[in-house]
Amino acid sequence: MVKKRETNVAELRDQTAVSRRDFVKAGAAAGLGAAILSAPGKAQAQPAPADIRWDYEADVIVCGSGGTGIVAAKRAHDLGADVLVLEQNFDIGGKLSHNGGLSSFGGGDAIQERDRRGLADPDGWLTAPLLPPADVTDDPETLFIDTTDWSVVNDHAIADYRYNDRGYQRGWADNAAATRQFLMDNHVRFSRISRTHQGGGMTKARAASSIMKLGAKTDIEAGTITSADAGSKEEERQSLFNPCTQICGGPGARADSLGAPNCIRGGFVISRSVEYTARKAGVRFMLNRHMDEIICEGGDSGRVIGVKASYTPRISPVTGKRLESYWSNGNIDETKQVIYVRARRAVIVGTGGYMGNVPFRTSFDPRMSEPSMQYGTGLMGPLHEDASGILAGMKVGAGLGGLFQPYLHSSSALRLQNVLATSDIYDTVMPGHPAFEFIRSYGIAIGTSGWEYIIAVNQVGKRFHDEWSIGNQRGSEAQYPPGSSGTNKSFTPLDWRNASVAHIRSTYNWGPGSDAALAMNEGSRAPDYSSGPVWAIFDQAAVNANGWQLRHPYIANPPDGNFFKADTLAELARLVVGNRFQHMPLKYLEQTVARFNSFADAGKDTDFEKAAMHRIDKAPFYAALIPLAVNDSYGGLKIDGHCQVIDIYGKPIPGLFAGGEASGGGRQHGIGRATVTGYIAATHAVAEPVR
Ligand SMILES: Cc1cc2nc3c(=O)[nH]c(=O)nc-3n(C[C@H](O)[C@H](O)[C@H](O)COP(=O)(O)OP(=O)(O)OC[C@H]3O[C@@H](n4cnc5c(N)ncnc54)[C@H](O)[C@@H]3O)c2cc1C
Repeated sequence: MVKKRETNVAELRDQTAVSRRDFVKAGAAAGLGAAILSAPGKAQAQPAPADIRWDYEADVIVCGSGGTGIVAAKRAHDLGADVLVLEQNFDIGGKLSHNGGLSSFGGGDAIQERDRRGLADPDGWLTAPLLPPADVTDDPETLFIDTTDWSVVNDHAIADYRYNDRGYQRGWADNAAATRQFLMDNHVRFSRISRTHQGGGMTKARAASSIMKLGAKTDIEAGTITSADAGSKEEERQSLFNPCTQICGGPGARADSLGAPNCIRGGFVISRSVEYTARKAGVRFMLNRHMDEIICEGGDSGRVIGVKASYTPRISPVTGKRLESYWSNGNIDETKQVIYVRARRAVIVGTGGYMGNVPFRTSFDPRMSEPSMQYGTGLMGPLHEDASGILAGMKVGAGLGGLFQPYLHSSSALRLQNVLATSDIYDTVMPGHPAFEFIRSYGIAIGTSGWEYIIAVNQVGKRFHDEWSIGNQRGSEAQYPPGSSGTNKSFTPLDWRNASVAHIRSTYNWGPGSDAALAMNEGSRAPDYSSGPVWAIFDQAAVNANGWQLRHPYIANPPDGNFFKADTLAELARLVVGNRFQHMPLKYLEQTVARFNSFADAGKDTDFEKAAMHRIDKAPFYAALIPLAVNDSYGGLKIDGHCQVIDIYGKPIPGLFAGGEASGGGRQHGIGRATVTGYIAATHAVAEPVR
């Protein structure tokens, strides 16, 4: 049952500006029909701005409630603005709420300072600092230089910071410490600093995880969480409160190794804490509401004056009822298909990435035409990465920034995953969270060692790569030993040797497993010549050797087409057509396994040079989907150091701001990128003149 939690929230202000009947008349006059209303983001007949009858209004409209949006909303409210958040999902938090919570800020932020001085945390929960003071001694100038250092090269020879936008990065470096403090002021607690994080700079350690301590009560202000709300991987249960995924350690991921005994870590700590204070302060939320278009004074140009948004409820496949948010105070429950919302000061776009939009994502990487590619729809629904914020900005003249950033970026590269048999590797949750009703399996985690017992085949049943080195697409940070990122004593900023051929040779670690998986094969057909799904094939001996648990909730029950079992390989080859992306049997599977077994007998794989092999011959046999998935988006709306959106002619668009994965310019990963840009965007959005 969906739980409701009430905090004290002031009376909602500025409710509906027009009645439903007025709206319907306005909608009919504008030619809005049921069909288009159910297709958010599609081009539609649009009333002229002067003729729009606004349904709601606010000083600042925030689109999206993830890392960027939730921070922008609370920050704008703190600065005196009346704020309305539009969120297409049924609950707030976006990807922020299911991430691991490792948050890289810096510039001498309060947590770096605490650890540098060897201080205890105010609650007295933490152990001693993990790093020596020199590693956390930082300032904004060092952070700025670090995040624009041309010489940093990662483990697949990509220059991590060389292509960062300097104006954007300056604004980011100057606001990182303030954003950490803002989160702390909103009850977010952090573990000890352990290292830095992708894009967080090489010379200093800047990352700590957001934590709550296990206790008898879930209390945001006290920073405590019950075991029921934390969830438990061991007990195979999740909660609506904490959707943190298995990628990050799963429900109830412990933070003991980060100097925080008996604490649970995760991005949900940030989203729930800021949501709590935002609701309490009077920020309004309209959930199930997808921003479709940005409206300017002159139609598609001039000052931004509002947005058009449509109703996007998510219905439980189990109960047939609409999914509901954890907290409801401050929610405006509006079910009109289309509404218009006026922005008295500004619109902030925090709608996240674009990986769900095939035309858009293939403009960065043609391999991403593959329809079975996963990007995390379970938790946030099919519209969450539809590039809608970016496209809406482009329609009113916005330029794009950071176009080089997605190129083989570690977090935006498509990767074969080592958790099998799930349809949503980035959202996998345990039973107890509504997303499980859509995803239906947690997946089978095989680690890197499991590949020894598996062959990976394409949609026609042929191997394509040495399975062992599939894991080599680690896509990790630049490596300058000794120490992990942020503790690299031998790293010399701005030194050519960091990018020398000798250094690249010594650290290069990139396998083309994903490229091989995405290659055209006999099953590839026009118009997109898709490579099709990729399958892990193994036998009962592999299961026995590894102790893999082939049961619910690790596999779906009833079956969902991502896992098959058969007594013969011929039968297994036929069964896989039960997967919605698999359009043919694994035609060559029997031949492939026979050939592989001959390699295992001979101790030599003459096709792919796999180092350790086991015969596949003990029935029953298994086929489990190997997810091909992508984590982040890089590149998006071009923004300046104030996070104001810049048009295609290089001029700021009045009243339009953006941040996080909807924006482009920097290669910083995740929470640091999203929350700092949300903080900056709000600071400048509230300074826009009222109209
Ligand atoms: C499994 C996983 C683990 C991660 N771990 C970490 C980590 O440990 N540390 C870290 O720093 N980063 C991590 N990240 C990355 C981080 O979560 C994201 O980069 C960050 O949340 C992006 O913030 P955002 O605001 O741009 O987008 P999101 O947080 O995704 O928020 C976007 C929001 O906008 C909503 N939305 C989309 N379109 C519309 C629309 N048109 N109208 C209204 N609402 C809309 C979405 O539903 C969503 O709620 C992880 C990501 C994943 C997937």
